[in-house]
Amino acid sequence: MERKLNFNAGPAALPGSVLQEAAAAVHEYKNTGLSILELPHRSKEFADIVAESKQLVKELCGLDDSYEVLWLQGGGRLQFCMVPMNFASEFLSAGYIDSGHWAEEASEYAAYYGDVQVLASSKEQKYNCLPAWPETVSQQLAYLHLTTNNTIYGTQWHKVPNAGVPLIADMSSDILSMQRDYTQYAMFYAAAQKNLGAAGTALAVIRKDMLKRIVRPVAPMLNYNEQVKQNSILNTANVFGVYTSLLMLRWTKEKGIVNIEQENRQKAGMLYDALDNSRIFTPYVMTKAHRSMMNVCFTAKTPEQEKAFVAMCEENNITGIKGHRSVGGFRVSLYNAIPVSSVATLVDIMKQFEALNA
Ligand code: PMP
Repeated sequence: MERKLNFNAGPAALPGSVLQEAAAAVHEYKNTGLSILELPHRSKEFADIVAESKQLVKELCGLDDSYEVLWLQGGGRLQFCMVPMNFASEFLSAGYIDSGHWAEEASEYAAYYGDVQVLASSKEQKYNCLPAWPETVSQQLAYLHLTTNNTIYGTQWHKVPNAGVPLIADMSSDILSMQRDYTQYAMFYAAAQKNLGAAGTALAVIRKDMLKRIVRPVAPMLNYNEQVKQNSILNTANVFGVYTSLLMLRWTKEKGIVNIEQENRQKAGMLYDALDNSRIFTPYVMTKAHRSMMNVCFTAKTPEQEKAFVAMCEENNITGIKGHRSVGGFRVSLYNAIPVSSVATLVDIMKQFEALNA
């Protein structure tokens, strides 16, 4: 099979070595005589997969045993529900920073379970920048939720101030993409299908003291305490998904976060450079300090040019560059598994397109 240059936002490109190992495990997992798809979730082998993956998450995030690591199902959106179900209450409001579609949806889901205060929003700017961080954060909040990378618009919090209340972050589209102080967070979570493996699994990392704050009744499947007690196998786990995430974590460790960050900066730099100097393409985010290293969004001058550019990319084996349906244009996702050479090819095609059309 000829592999495409895949810039999709998620499910996203995975490293070839991870795909090969995952494929081999579908045939047989570790001399068990079973496919990974047949491996019981209560087997010793799966317990080992869970243990190693949890250890790697802690190691890569620089966390000690004061944090619990969970593999859950329901993707990013189920965390939009579980966070307020577990941590909001009738006595404490939940604070949200609205920096994009997913951040807003998280706050809307939270409103089903308690009072929500949106402390900052860039909705009026159509999310083409980050909102200003709130000057004061009420210390009466159950938590403050933010989305570290806004996948649809291409903005990213490169530095997050401390809030004085528990910070909870959706890191679905930039987890492990750069060095970051993960100990700032009382909890963070990420749907796996970008930097962490295949769709269908979500990582949740929770500081243990937070688990004591769960006071209202929450059914076991949705209750972080119960999930911790059952070590991520309360129900039939996504064995293959968690295994693929373990392969991604091993790959991430081997490459090293410092190198990954350096490459991510290089890739984003190449693309933004091309956009800032283009006579056809315009980047969506003009405030350079707010630009995402993971998702780069831009438009062409006319819908006809956009159609023609997609067609030219397809002819050159490039896929996944169409913008989210809510903003249009283009979105190029540069997650950890995307090699610098793929971005060089894309930039080259952009320049060829420009030479033909400007
Ligand atoms: N949060 C962010 C930042 C996302 O980018 C996405 C999906 N792209 C989600 C949440 C939703 O994830 P899921 O589709 O797994 O519910």
